[in-house]
Amino acid sequence: MKRLHFVLDHLKGFKLLMVLTIIVTIIYAGLNLTASLVFSYVIDNVIGGSAISNPLTHMVNTIVGGIDNVKSHFWILAILLIGIYILVAVFMSFRQRQQGVVAENLVETIRNDLYDHIQQLPYKFHVSTNTGELIQKCTSDVDMIRRFFSGQLCEIFYILSTAIIALIVLYMINAKLALFASISLPIIFVYSYLFFKKVQQQFLLSDQAEAIMTTKIQESLSGIRVVKAFNREKYEVDRFAQTNQDYVDVTYKMIKTLGGYWSSSYMICLLGILSVVVMGIFAVRNGELSIGNFVVFVTYQTSILYPIRMLGRIMSDYGKVTVSMDRLMDILDRPAEDLVHGSKPNMQGDIIFDHVKFNYGDDHFDVLKDISFQIHNGQTIAIIGPTGAGKSTLMYLLTRLYDPTGGTITINGVDITNINKKYLRENVGIVLQEPFLFSRTIESNLRIVNPTASEEEMVNATSIAAVHDVITSFERGYSTIVGEKGVTLSGGQKQRVAIARTLIKDTPILIFDDSLSAVDTETDEKIRHAIHSMEHKKTMIIITQRVSSAKDCDWIVVIEDGLITQQGTHDQLIVQDGLYQRINAIQSKVEEGDHHE
Ligand code: ADP
Repeated sequence: MKRLHFVLDHLKGFKLLMVLTIIVTIIYAGLNLTASLVFSYVIDNVIGGSAISNPLTHMVNTIVGGIDNVKSHFWILAILLIGIYILVAVFMSFRQRQQGVVAENLVETIRNDLYDHIQQLPYKFHVSTNTGELIQKCTSDVDMIRRFFSGQLCEIFYILSTAIIALIVLYMINAKLALFASISLPIIFVYSYLFFKKVQQQFLLSDQAEAIMTTKIQESLSGIRVVKAFNREKYEVDRFAQTNQDYVDVTYKMIKTLGGYWSSSYMICLLGILSVVVMGIFAVRNGELSIGNFVVFVTYQTSILYPIRMLGRIMSDYGKVTVSMDRLMDILDRPAEDLVHGSKPNMQGDIIFDHVKFNYGDDHFDVLKDISFQIHNGQTIAIIGPTGAGKSTLMYLLTRLYDPTGGTITINGVDITNINKKYLRENVGIVLQEPFLFSRTIESNLRIVNPTASEEEMVNATSIAAVHDVITSFERGYSTIVGEKGVTLSGGQKQRVAIARTLIKDTPILIFDDSLSAVDTETDEKIRHAIHSMEHKKTMIIITQRVSSAKDCDWIVVIEDGLITQQGTHDQLIVQDGLYQRINAIQSKVEEGDHHE
């Protein structure tokens, strides 16, 4: 029922066309069966000279104007048959075309909805979801649904209407033989159904193996630099070969099962037809069946049994379709992030972390244990600490990618869990540690954040980020296309473009998540000073591992293992026994060494 709703919801304006296509399919099935009746009429009544006994043959007789008329104008029969075949062709073409239109529109809507919804799902979903699996859902699962609706659904209606119409006609001709003929139908159908049950699991395994393979390809290609740098090509190739082999193994098993099904079901169909031929011959000999009707029996039995066998294939595909639909519904049913509700307070105010606690999941340890500190409006503070201490997590909480599991964070006195998420993110600019640039021009990468930014605003941002000169030195300037993940730019250049991108929005709060470390100390200082001289005063949070980036901040917070172990100004911390002093000592030595060289 849920699946039906899923389809109906996505059919939108094409429901009527879908119904029309099904009706046309049923008429087409009926028309396809009429030619045999004409042949039976010719054999029994025109050539054989027997009296007309069944109402359907009577109908054919009326259309052609009686037996005598046909005998003297044999071409009438030819015209009738050609007419039937033309109608069959017209209906067939209509059906093919319209079912294609319905399917394409259906999957277009599904694809758009899915993409839209994935974009709106919380960050938590994205970090916990395998990208390869997600890509597979968006492509092959949608394609599976497209294939089903572009042919197989109408095929089900075609097969069922053919079977029903044919059986009714056969019952009208000879009820006893018709009953006998229909025995093989449930056998082949149940056989198909059981097969469908069996393969569903195998299809699932094959899809999972394919997803693992896709992920592996994606992972090793996006990490190609690491692979090359560490000479891991052979290792990667071997690992891929193994997943490829796993995929082939499950697929091969599936093919074997399918092969077994086709041959055995073919045998069952042949036996079904043969039994009707044998019984039919006896009936003809006993005078219970005319030769013309015998022909109708054999042709109808053939036209029903093979399609019923096809049901097995459709059902097996339906198994895959239901799996695909369920997987897509699983994504679409996940609640999207609420970006519309919540207040929109003035964001130029103090930021207060008050006994903030956080863990990533039920069985996860507390990444943040008890964090309390304040950032006054317009201040620049540094958060310093070892890797894994929880610094980035703190910023995830401030931008509400996650909410604290204990304590509160307030901006200008308002608990951020009550602030409209979209508004909050519009006001908190963040430069991530891993700057991701899209494979587009530098300009469109910059404009992602603010599409209406003027040329002047854009240049202003890139100048502050100390990257304007670099960009203009490129032959195509701002129109330079950044390669996949920005490989044509150096790490520092990429980072500076990412900084400019965040600055274009002119947000009152700015976070640099270890993002200044990719640029040299001098440029880092230049950028920070340039930001300070910007028109609108900003509250800045600089996450860093470098004392040089922290030392002229108004306040420094040292985090170790989810706890604040020190806080104060550089001058205060430098004389305190603790991590800050130790980092400073190490980094000063390194700098001294650099100077001596
Ligand atoms: P830092 O920025 O100080 O290096 P993080 O905030 O990135 O530290 O990480 C703190 C801890 O949280 C680490 O132990 C890390 O493994 C864990 N962690 C970070 N992100 C996730 C996540 N999405 N799911 C589970 N654990 C995470």
